[in-house]
Amino acid sequence: MLHVPFMDVRRCLTREDYFELVNGPDFTVRWMLENHLALSHQDRQPFTLPGFCTTCSSAVDFAVDFEGAWQAPDGFVVPNWREFMNCPSCGMNARVRMMQSLSTAVLLDGPDKNHFAAYLMEQVTPFYAWACRTFPWASWTGSEFLGPGVSSGTIHEGILHEDAECLSFASASFDLLVSCDVLEHVDQPARALAEIGRVLKPGGTAILSFPMDPHLDANRRRAEVTMTGDVKHLQPPIYHRNPLSPAGSLVFTDFGWEILEQMRISGLTDAAMYVYWSFELGYLGIQYYFLGHRRHS
Ligand SMILES: [Zn+2]
Repeated sequence: MLHVPFMDVRRCLTREDYFELVNGPDFTVRWMLENHLALSHQDRQPFTLPGFCTTCSSAVDFAVDFEGAWQAPDGFVVPNWREFMNCPSCGMNARVRMMQSLSTAVLLDGPDKNHFAAYLMEQVTPFYAWACRTFPWASWTGSEFLGPGVSSGTIHEGILHEDAECLSFASASFDLLVSCDVLEHVDQPARALAEIGRVLKPGGTAILSFPMDPHLDANRRRAEVTMTGDVKHLQPPIYHRNPLSPAGSLVFTDFGWEILEQMRISGLTDAAMYVYWSFELGYLGIQYYFLGHRRHS
């Protein structure tokens, strides 16, 4: 398992693993701490928490606000720790700081740093800029989805377009692939996972984040693209923020535990969910990522 100082990481393969963890004694103490923090800020005014930003390598006061907050069962409002606990210096939220930490760990653990090739499924973001700036000797490829009907590999105004279901890259191109909250916006996530498995080198690492409902066994489709290219809604539409689209990105899938099996079928044989928590690093609530290595063929 990748080691990041000050962080508690637990591997979950099943629904039972997950609920045993989040209902266990460690998380009981965490809930008490987080509820205390939330109850101290029910005026919903922004506040700060001291911590350490791994991107900036410095102690900072993380900025917390109540955008995207959720209502706890007994009525009080809890910040969205994953999306809205930002470093004031680099601006990264908790989710992106974690992906940055993991990417650094994979790169520094790699057998050959001078020939390290990574693909981030994002390009117009602080994370991509940070990666290129911090590890200039590595090869970084980033892309965005510029819309249907554009061919993967097209560059428009300096931005590489890639459709996650049909990547333009040769097989076995990358040591690391990072996808931050992309897969829920893809019509056929199994196809995207197959592409992720294809473009990774044997032994390469995929680090994926996406919202997942731990109560669900099977994935639940929210929308699908029909034969005529229209979007058919199967559940009330949900849109997430997209830096390239004011309308946001439609969520096509609510993921359940089926996603781990889909990752394994795609060649990520040790695919697992990793739940992490760290007060020092500003990772509160229940946050998780998915990681798997491309099997050696
Ligand atoms: Zn920072």
